[in-house]
Amino acid sequence: MKILVVNAGSSSLKYQLIDSETEKAIAKGGCERIGIDGSLLKHKTAKGEVIVEKPMPDHTVAVQLVLQMLVDKDNGVISSMDEIGAVGHRVVHGGEEFKQSVVVNDEIMEKIIANTDLAPLHQPANVIGINACKAVMPNAPMVAVFDTAFHSNMPDYAFMYGIPYEDYKNLRIRRYGFHGTSHKYVSEEAAKFLGNPNAKIITCHLGNGSSISAVKAGVSVDTSMGFTPLEGVPMGTRSGDIDPAVIEYLANKKGMTVAEVLSYLNKKSGVAGVSGVSSDFRDLCAAAEEGNYRAQLALNNFCYKVKKYVGAYAAALNGADCIVFTAGIGENTVSVRKSVMEGLDYLGATIDDEKNAMKNDGSIRDISGKDSKVKVLVIPTNEELVIARETYALVK
Ligand code: ADP
Repeated sequence: MKILVVNAGSSSLKYQLIDSETEKAIAKGGCERIGIDGSLLKHKTAKGEVIVEKPMPDHTVAVQLVLQMLVDKDNGVISSMDEIGAVGHRVVHGGEEFKQSVVVNDEIMEKIIANTDLAPLHQPANVIGINACKAVMPNAPMVAVFDTAFHSNMPDYAFMYGIPYEDYKNLRIRRYGFHGTSHKYVSEEAAKFLGNPNAKIITCHLGNGSSISAVKAGVSVDTSMGFTPLEGVPMGTRSGDIDPAVIEYLANKKGMTVAEVLSYLNKKSGVAGVSGVSSDFRDLCAAAEEGNYRAQLALNNFCYKVKKYVGAYAAALNGADCIVFTAGIGENTVSVRKSVMEGLDYLGATIDDEKNAMKNDGSIRDISGKDSKVKVLVIPTNEELVIARETYALVK
């Protein structure tokens, strides 16, 4: 069956058409600047990439253009839209009720919309994405795959914040965690690699957004992102963990509203804020090489905090069998992996510098040191494949 995987953002829509038998993407691409001048569709297949500039006033038009491209006689990969058996949607927030993926019906849609409060920046775009696909493909089942679902079996003592219990109950304030499809995928791949379904695995998803998870026997038992994706390690532009008292202090000192402080912590902070150079680790590494102190500080700060989470999760798991690096930085930035792994020998975890420096060829790389008791793996993530698998499992 061919599954269309859709990841809708506020002004973008990324897609992959995946064959559930081969688990390969037959086509992938994205629409950018939806609702803004200069909308673009980028479409990549085995034949190459095409970029088309076409007006896309809304997501429904964007979905129509994607489908036209998929059946296009020159750039298409299927002969008719009917070949698409189902559509799998990335949905950011599943709240407490969605512990796994679901086929979307009216009742489910209402519940997804009800979670908008918990993810006001992302959930509306996900809802628009589902509606746009339904409008254009009324007969194809829509499946929602939640970023939070993999973390939904965390024990209560791990997800509970130290606040009055009734506010957890009534307002649903708790740790939810995100990047669930990625942590799920790489922890399953690692467990297969180790030949141990019960392995204790620490997964480090280090990309523009970063999060670390503790996974035991296939269950996420703790994760660094919290009520929102702002918590945890510093990220491209997000502060990560910070004393909440800073919010009032900043508001008073800089005359900012709470919303402005939140925007500052989400968009102006992280390694971009510390370095003043960039949110992109390639730029940071280049600047640090040239002796830029703040770029080096941002890198040191990031790696130190990732290492602290690894240590915390080794404690949560009572040791670790495996540490996994994934996502843009985790898969590609040799110096970050080296710096995070320095001083983890007390855990029995070391890496081999030569193996660590090997180029990313898209395969699983074992970079463990010769005597390392903990396997250290680099595993390319594949969130779209998880969404396609979950979708297929529900609709087949
Ligand atoms: P997201 O999916 O959250 O937008 P990614 O997982 O693509 O982010 O990670 C982006 C980060 O990965 C950037 O900071 C980028 O500098 C870093 N990175 C380092 N090397 C590479 C590379 N070869 N390709 C892509 N990203 C890289």
